[in-house]
Amino acid sequence: MKYANDQLSKPRNWETLRTLPVTPLDQIPQILSAARAAQPSWAALSPKKRSQHLLNFKEAVLTHVDEIVELIHKENGKPHFEALAGDVLAAIEVVDFFATKGMRALRDQNICLGNPLVLHRQSYLNFWPVGVVAVISPWNFPFFLPIGEIAMALITGNTVVFKPSEVTPLVGLKIQELFEEAGLPTGVLQTLTGGAEQGAALIQSRPNKIFFTGSVPTGKKISEIASKLMIPVNLELGGKDPMIVLSDANLDYATSAALWGGFSNSGQFCASTERILVHESIHDSFVSKLKEKLPKLKGHLGFITYEKQKTVYERQIQEARDKNLDFFSGGNFNPERTQLEPTLVGGSGIEDAEIYKEETFGPVLAITKFRSIEEAVRKANDSPYGLLASIITNNIPLAEEIAKKLEYGSVLINEVGYTASLPETPWGGIKETGWGRKHSLMGLMDFVHVRHIHKPRFHFLKFKSFWWFPYTPFQYQTFRWYLETHRRSWLARLKAIPVLLWNFVQFLKNEKRT
Ligand code: NAD
Repeated sequence: MKYANDQLSKPRNWETLRTLPVTPLDQIPQILSAARAAQPSWAALSPKKRSQHLLNFKEAVLTHVDEIVELIHKENGKPHFEALAGDVLAAIEVVDFFATKGMRALRDQNICLGNPLVLHRQSYLNFWPVGVVAVISPWNFPFFLPIGEIAMALITGNTVVFKPSEVTPLVGLKIQELFEEAGLPTGVLQTLTGGAEQGAALIQSRPNKIFFTGSVPTGKKISEIASKLMIPVNLELGGKDPMIVLSDANLDYATSAALWGGFSNSGQFCASTERILVHESIHDSFVSKLKEKLPKLKGHLGFITYEKQKTVYERQIQEARDKNLDFFSGGNFNPERTQLEPTLVGGSGIEDAEIYKEETFGPVLAITKFRSIEEAVRKANDSPYGLLASIITNNIPLAEEIAKKLEYGSVLINEVGYTASLPETPWGGIKETGWGRKHSLMGLMDFVHVRHIHKPRFHFLKFKSFWWFPYTPFQYQTFRWYLETHRRSWLARLKAIPVLLWNFVQFLKNEKRT
């Protein structure tokens, strides 16, 4: 079957790169069964062996770096440097982290029990893979994003069925090819091609977990279906990230941060800076400094990856023009309509415009002013999204105070956007940005089930529990006086202890458990 559409094309001139067959829908349940069949023996490998497979994959990537960078550049349209740093290097670091540190999170974890009635018992946590994980990915970081999720799923003993975006399937298939080159056993990772239909069929084939990264509307559809099938789902969705620039900020630094935050990956970045909230005292100088720098982006801006995205830009820009907002810069496409000029828009009424409120996912910064820190926090939080926020200032303690009031999954002080590439740190958002976290040892917990194991502390300490049948008077009094030891007052607690002990001894002597 051919997958002929305008999406499989080279963003620079929309010329078709290759025509690919899509995975037939009726094959998807069989693919899932193969993943399920491969999972027990993959999970039975020691974490060290699984980690070795990931390290082999890393070597395969390193052997083919230039070829991968070229493919990402061609299929996605981002500059070579962004493909190298944002996709390949970030992927290498995430694989390395989980291959070398991931095993730590899988060790059994002891739990301290506080109840004196169970001093003779012990509890610990034991982790086990969820089974088959479906990884469904977008096109903006076609190499790095899915590799992070695949690495986390594999190190924890799961097998994976991966559906890359229909906009960047060649990069998706390259990931599969590299894992095969690294010797990953058959069935442990399988890659589908196709779009929404294949994604939906993958979910209907009942994986044990869905790891979805993409838009809010698709995320909502997926979580609705997943909830009917009782499949847990992680949702990494859109954002409208604010950057708060305080009055003491260094303007050169702040405008450079806005430039990279807003225009790297051509703004096609979930954690792009899309809203700038700047203190009114420096608003005009911030705008003129930023305007001075915008022409310097020439030759460094990537292409619009997905043609359909242009309709969002057109709609938001038209509405902003209708509202007579100030276009300080940009607002037009290049003659080939493959790039949107870096756009800076603001002015009175900006906060009511879609360009300020809704995700653009493009090279557009919407700027507004604030008078007080409270106003900045209120405006930053006044959004349906909650992925990442930035604060630019020289006053780090104040920034930390502000950070703790911001309703975002990550807050970066004097930095923008980039921490998805730090595998040690958790990534994810709140509100319509979704739920769940990936990366970091905390994120690994989303790929495992937790099993609580409770056992005798010492083998020879074996007696019937005090709360077992029959229910008797001394038993009742023992528990009644034990309750008194929870009182706030030390005196009340001390008074309870002798009565508790007396009842306890009578209980043990006279009232045998059935
Ligand atoms: P999208 O929602 O259109 O598609 C994402 C993936 O879902 C694709 O593989 C697509 O084929 C698949 N899909 C579409 N409909 C489906 C369905 N009904 N069932 C199952 N699968 C389906 O998103 P996109 O345009 O590829 O990506 C852009 C969006 O991704 C932006 O909103 C961006 O903010 C978000 N994103 C978020 C993060 C994050 O970490 N929070 C990272 C990158 C991108």
